[in-house]
Amino acid sequence: MRWHKTLSTLPMLIALSLPVPGSAQREILLVPERVFDGSETHDGWAVLVRGARIVAVGRVTSITAPVTVDTVALPGTTLLPGLIEGHSHLLLHPYNETPWTDQVLIESLAERIARATVHARNTLLAGITTVRDLGTEGAGYADVGLKRSIELDIILGPRMIVTTRAIVATGSYSPKGAPEHHLPKGAEVADGYDELIRVTRDQIGRGADWVKVYADYRWGPGGTAQPTFTRAELELVVEVAASSGRSVVAHAATAEGIERSVLAGVRTIEHGDGADEEALALMASHGVALCPTLAAVEAVSEYSGWRKGVDPDPQRVAQKKASFRAALAAGVPICFGGDVGVYSHGENVRELELMVEYGMSPLSAVRAATSGNAALFDLDHQFGSVAEGLLADMIAVQGNPTQDITALRNVVFVMKGGVVYVEP
Ligand SMILES: [Zn+2]
Repeated sequence: MRWHKTLSTLPMLIALSLPVPGSAQREILLVPERVFDGSETHDGWAVLVRGARIVAVGRVTSITAPVTVDTVALPGTTLLPGLIEGHSHLLLHPYNETPWTDQVLIESLAERIARATVHARNTLLAGITTVRDLGTEGAGYADVGLKRSIELDIILGPRMIVTTRAIVATGSYSPKGAPEHHLPKGAEVADGYDELIRVTRDQIGRGADWVKVYADYRWGPGGTAQPTFTRAELELVVEVAASSGRSVVAHAATAEGIERSVLAGVRTIEHGDGADEEALALMASHGVALCPTLAAVEAVSEYSGWRKGVDPDPQRVAQKKASFRAALAAGVPICFGGDVGVYSHGENVRELELMVEYGMSPLSAVRAATSGNAALFDLDHQFGSVAEGLLADMIAVQGNPTQDITALRNVVFVMKGGVVYVEP
């Protein structure tokens, strides 16, 4: 019922947060039980926010606040940086509601965008203040407009890092039907020197913050995952993106697809299910992070009838557990990215819970979701930590998530850029 309360109080909260013309910027003093600053936990700390930014962090007695400051008491909570989802699809909704193929082929663009506005709001209210959205899956450049609508306060949502359509090799991607039909695809097709240069630049020109490529896909014999682009093609995309100051993210589930991508210079690998020891060692030595998308694999398995905790792990889940543990052991940086959209937006914490269940410490998981992803996405100078000078993107949760990750489900306070969206 929390969100009804949030909805009814929302206009007032937003109004309170608007700067009053001619007056000094509003200051807010946040007083939780403890602050997790992105790397360590500090008992008895408080945070002073002025306008959109954090201006002081430390022991509550050491912070000099004006007499008129608005104090928000957050007893029993941990205040931490807003969570940064590394792999979302705001333009998709759970596949048990509508299969992916039908979303791409049958749903209208208007319906998909209408749904996405709800997804964006649910994401923010769950404490996710930034998402890296990895492809509209047939919804064109709608992520660019969604991002702008959030920036303009037309709709509620997280900050967005967008990739527009993503790039796939001819013949590899879906939906597929009768061979004589040309069905619309869930991403933009391009191959070879001229086309890959043109499409990479075109997506950048239309608003992509990152460029996404599918380095492999399930187009092998019997639907097995096999590499798509050659290493030279991947290098070309990275070179063109880098010329514009942008990074490349690769969908890669095969060892060969991962190796080609890492050697080509991509920054993160999505999924990584079939990573072998060599591929993981290569990722670790190049500092390339893995977004493991554990929650998507479990969700898809559940949609096909698997009862977690009752039935034995299906092969995909068992492989995921093994590859994730091997990645941890190899020292691969772990990105928090769950492929949310396959399951409900606002349920992003499922991925963090599984990261812990599969062998990561809660502290490492919370670091990955805050300062870790901020650094991976080259945004740590803007947010991802509770530190003086950074944007005031913070959440408070009941309990201590560095000891019990499920505490992240108990969000009682959400602030983005100094504006309060959820208040106890
Ligand atoms: Zn995805």
